[in-house]
Amino acid sequence: MNIDDKSQIRPCTSCQMCGAVCPVDAITIRLDDNGFYRPQIDINKCIDCGLCVKSCYKFDHSISKSDLANKKIVAAWAKNPEIVESTTSGGIADVLARKFIDEGYDCVGVAYNTDDNVAEGKIASSHEEILSFRGSKYIQSYSVDAFKELVKTSKDKRFAVFGLPCQIYAIDRYLTNRKLRDNHILIDLYCHGCPSINVWEKYINDIKTKLRAKKILSVNFRSKVRGWGSFYVVVVVVEDVNGNRRKYISPKIKDEFYEMFFSDLVLNDSCQDCMLRGTLEYTDIRLGDFWGKSYINNHTGVSGVTISTPRGQKIFEGIQGEVNFERQEFSNFIPYQSYGRDYSVNKEIRCELLRLVSSPSTPLSQCLKYYNRTLPIKTRIFAIIKNLIKLLPISVISRTKSILYSIRSLGCKRPSTA
Ligand SMILES: Cc1cc2nc3c(=O)[nH]c(=O)nc-3n(C[C@H](O)[C@H](O)[C@H](O)COP(=O)(O)OP(=O)(O)OC[C@H]3O[C@@H](n4cnc5c(N)ncnc54)[C@H](O)[C@@H]3O)c2cc1C
Ligand code: SF4
Ligand code: SF4
Ligand code: SF4
Repeated sequence: MNIDDKSQIRPCTSCQMCGAVCPVDAITIRLDDNGFYRPQIDINKCIDCGLCVKSCYKFDHSISKSDLANKKIVAAWAKNPEIVESTTSGGIADVLARKFIDEGYDCVGVAYNTDDNVAEGKIASSHEEILSFRGSKYIQSYSVDAFKELVKTSKDKRFAVFGLPCQIYAIDRYLTNRKLRDNHILIDLYCHGCPSINVWEKYINDIKTKLRAKKILSVNFRSKVRGWGSFYVVVVVVEDVNGNRRKYISPKIKDEFYEMFFSDLVLNDSCQDCMLRGTLEYTDIRLGDFWGKSYINNHTGVSGVTISTPRGQKIFEGIQGEVNFERQEFSNFIPYQSYGRDYSVNKEIRCELLRLVSSPSTPLSQCLKYYNRTLPIKTRIFAIIKNLIKLLPISVISRTKSILYSIRSLGCKRPSTA
């Protein structure tokens, strides 16, 4: 039995662990037409060992929700302001990775490759190497090579792996099956989902054309140039055809990449009703942005740090000298996350949007026009109001959001994570 077996009960998460565990290299990871990484099996090579299935989410009947009463949450941010400034929330992933390197672990994380404009799983063994892990890259990473190295050496080395819940789930399954889980540390992220890489490809190519770029020097998916909390700002630095350094900062409203992302329509199939973003059973610690009312006036960044295992507790105690932290309640955090939520998207619209996004001749602006036309009038009006609020000074935005959260909590409705 291999991962193509008909008994699968869920769609593929693109975690790529099947490609890493296969002992005869029968699985290759490739992008499909819709822009998601998928495994392809060479059936002539497959020896039917079943190893790939043992780490695969598609077949697992035993996944269950976590009892949050057994978990703990703290709000935390690095004491070093340089770390907070150059990371996505409070910089806790970076503080942890540094600590793990000092303790002799190899860290697995995701870096951005500016030559090919893709996110890639990498293994780092020095403070210098983990710098490229800073900041979330809101696209699927090509991680099979890093995971192959982990599989090959996980008996002799100690790894601290940072990744999305679907990646961490698959690695946990593999290590647990081999009775190696205790030698390694797993850290995952609160997760809204991963969009089609075709969206990012169109977006970054538009920026390259606009700036007449010869070479991309750096990409930040969520810069804090306008502060943390209310904005998703993409910053791209390029060298143009004349050899000048030029910078792109995405607009305050109507950023095409994030409009697509938060439509939920172009996320991976498995992200629609993902069980893994709603369970904490496979990770030691889960990190996220501490959205919600508690830190609404903080504009530098706060991480929500969920401690899931006794080992996670020990790890957090080990970094307490380097971070500011406050014990928190899940009720101040979870309602502002996609944790445990399913998205109900229209399948026909999703299909058409993915088709448009995969067509090289359709600009991203046209894909968005199609999407906007499908929205009900009420949603369009709400989006206009939201955009008008985003144009206000950051202190006014915070106050407005705080009022909106209070009104919504009175009506017992879940606030959006966007
Ligand atoms: C696709 C995606 C969706 C997310 N959705 C949410 C959400 O809904 N709510 C929320 O609170 N937080 C979400 N996060 C997590 C959040 O963006 C921050 O990564 C987290 O708060 C940790 O930030 P930090 O400041 O501690 O460190 P950072 O330096 O920002 O940490 C980034 C860490 O994430 C890893 N990483 C970066 N890109 C990827 C990737 N594509 N795949 C796997 N690992 C990656 C890096 O290796 C590093 O360890 C998401 C992250 C990603 C990548
Ligand atoms: S979910 Fe992961 S392990 Fe399963 S088929 Fe997809 S990439 Fe492979
Ligand atoms: S069953 Fe074994 S040999 Fe076949 S694809 Fe899966 S891991 Fe590879
Ligand atoms: S929502 Fe689930 S399947 Fe999608 S990227 Fe996040 S953890 Fe993976």
